Amino acid sequence: MDAATFVQAKFISNDPIYLLVPVLWLAMSVVNYFLFDAGKDAASKRKCYPQSVRLNAVFFVVVVTVFTVRENGPLVGLWMLVILVPGTLMISSMILHSTKFCDQCDSLVRSQYGSTAPVTCQNCGALLGECPDLPDEL
Ligand SMILES: [Zn+2]
Repeated sequence: MDAATFVQAKFISNDPIYLLVPVLWLAMSVVNYFLFDAGKDAASKRKCYPQSVRLNAVFFVVVVTVFTVRENGPLVGLWMLVILVPGTLMISSMILHSTKFCDQCDSLVRSQYGSTAPVTCQNCGALLGECPDLPDEL
């Protein structure tokens, strides 16, 4: 390792944002797991899930943009926003469209391909046709 690489590595490890972001991301993952994977009551999951997808999308866009601006400047950060916002909106809409909550076992069910809603519950095998869809728009 040359001196410049060592100095850069030391700078990154001393910056609190490089610790804060993974800790926040891990905390959001744990909360999402307990709310939507381990939790019960499909109706309340249906109500909270779109807000969670929105929050995760905003967090992702903000984090990537902040890191891009810090490392490459505001112009590159602006271009990153131009790419990230529509891409994140599209992926978040696909996640909402391809997710249902089973009324029989309260499981979160996602289709394998993301463009279609799941037909049967992967946990209990129940048909999901009667289960309400989540809103597609963000
Ligand atoms: Zn089920």
